[in-house]
Amino acid sequence: MIIKEAVHGCDCCRNEFLETNPLRLTVFYNDKSLFKDAINKGDCLDHYEFCSWRCVLKFLPTIETDSYIDLPHLEFDDDIDHVNELKEICKHIINT
Ligand SMILES: [Zn+2]
Repeated sequence: MIIKEAVHGCDCCRNEFLETNPLRLTVFYNDKSLFKDAINKGDCLDHYEFCSWRCVLKFLPTIETDSYIDLPHLEFDDDIDHVNELKEICKHIINT
């Protein structure tokens, strides 16, 4: 019995996704004991989705891996402007 439909949300702030194109980040591991997603035991990777670059950058320091991280792609989208959001964050970091 389904009581409540699954809600798709940000892995950092837990807000529900209102747009259809979240920022996707993938963490790869060599040591299988490090990764969190029990469903992907065979793949040695975890998938995360974020509502904004602010949430990606907040989450990034919490990741522990012995391999590598694929950051979200920088692509233009008509509905939500993740590219210009990241540009503004970078300008702020460089100017402080
Ligand atoms: Zn978020």
